Amino acid sequence: MKEPFSDLLKESPIFKNRNALSQSYVPETLLFRDKQIDYIVKILTPSLKGDKGRNLFIYGKTGTGKTSCMKYVLDKVRNISTVKAKISYINCRLHNSRYRVLNKIVSDHLPVYAKHGYGTVDIYGKIIHWIEEDSKILIVVLDEIDMVTDLDDLVYTLTRANNDMKNGGVVLAGISNTISFKDRLDPRSLSSLYEAELVFPPYNSNELSEILRQRAELGFKRDVIDPSTINLAAAISAKDSGDARLALMMLSNAGELAEEKGEKKITADDVKEASKNAEEEIAYELISTLPEHQRLIVYAISMLTLQGSRYKKLVAGEDTYLFSGEIYDKYVAVIHSLRKEPKSSRWYRKYISDLEMQGLVATYESGKGIRGHTKLIKLLYPPAKIKATIEKGLFNESEAEGK
Ligand code: ADP
Ligand code: MG
Repeated sequence: MKEPFSDLLKESPIFKNRNALSQSYVPETLLFRDKQIDYIVKILTPSLKGDKGRNLFIYGKTGTGKTSCMKYVLDKVRNISTVKAKISYINCRLHNSRYRVLNKIVSDHLPVYAKHGYGTVDIYGKIIHWIEEDSKILIVVLDEIDMVTDLDDLVYTLTRANNDMKNGGVVLAGISNTISFKDRLDPRSLSSLYEAELVFPPYNSNELSEILRQRAELGFKRDVIDPSTINLAAAISAKDSGDARLALMMLSNAGELAEEKGEKKITADDVKEASKNAEEEIAYELISTLPEHQRLIVYAISMLTLQGSRYKKLVAGEDTYLFSGEIYDKYVAVIHSLRKEPKSSRWYRKYISDLEMQGLVATYESGKGIRGHTKLIKLLYPPAKIKATIEKGLFNESEAEGK
């Protein structure tokens, strides 16, 4: 009989440290981001010394190193004993409403009040009192801030806090993956949030190669992967998106494939195969964290893609493209069947450009055709799988949240 768990206990011929290849791992040195790190440090320094510094807003596509750079800076800060400021790092994917964000601040700094089920006003009062009592500076880092559903309320509350206090202050650092995020804020919140701004550009192929090389050394055993194979993974990711997360996922999936196949080395074929899986995994992750209306728009797109466009004959050869208008109609129908209110078509167009930014859809202008000037939209992932993923989420949804 085979020893139970023998596979589990056997040492991997490929991996030295799987964790080093995961996307949550922050390497000791972040490559190509000196300028960005210096800028974050420069903007936060006054606040760390106890003055009310400037709010900072950071944006760039997924996988450009925003979270890693921020965490890197915050880790350094933690080791400096003279730092006056208190810091809350908040992942807004998890804490996606004003209430949840305030609750997270309380649980970070005033844990006795957390989990008491206090309402927003009470929590807010506790935080203000705590800041004022000895003129603290509270730095609130809102990562993936675009995930917050009542965003204006949140930004307004946190910036207004400075008017409600005689001593101390709140400084915000918002991080977003979408540029059109700006359009979601009212002008007042916008101007208070954007006191300083920082952009993270996508990585090019050479930069991704370096990033992957650094991680391959930590994650894989010696000579398991050739430089040319790393370059291939980098080139594929650079062409698609410049997303380091995608590149890393591809690399570690390629390692898993090589291990499954009992290979001694990761091959180019493993990388190509892994690139398909990595894309799908990322699509599912993206969808699971999309705000409700955007998710339902993607749902409408997946349904229509499966049915085929109503205007198929008008766009000969482009049968996987859909008309913007028919998607909107489908979205409205879906929303009504859920007994909810649809967003206006103006919002709809913004959402579509967000979805394009995130790489879920591609769009192009039809030019002057029979139906006049219109936008054509194409889903970039398998529609049946996308539809099933969203349906799973729709029926598990529960929104029992005190506001
Ligand atoms: P973002 O927050 O912009 O989506 P992340 O900071 O989460 O991106 O980065 C995604 C992954 O890529 C992480 O695993 C991170 O360690 C890695 N990474 C990103 N930028 C760099 C870099 N400059 N050097 C090394 N690793 C990086
Ligand atoms: Mg991030």
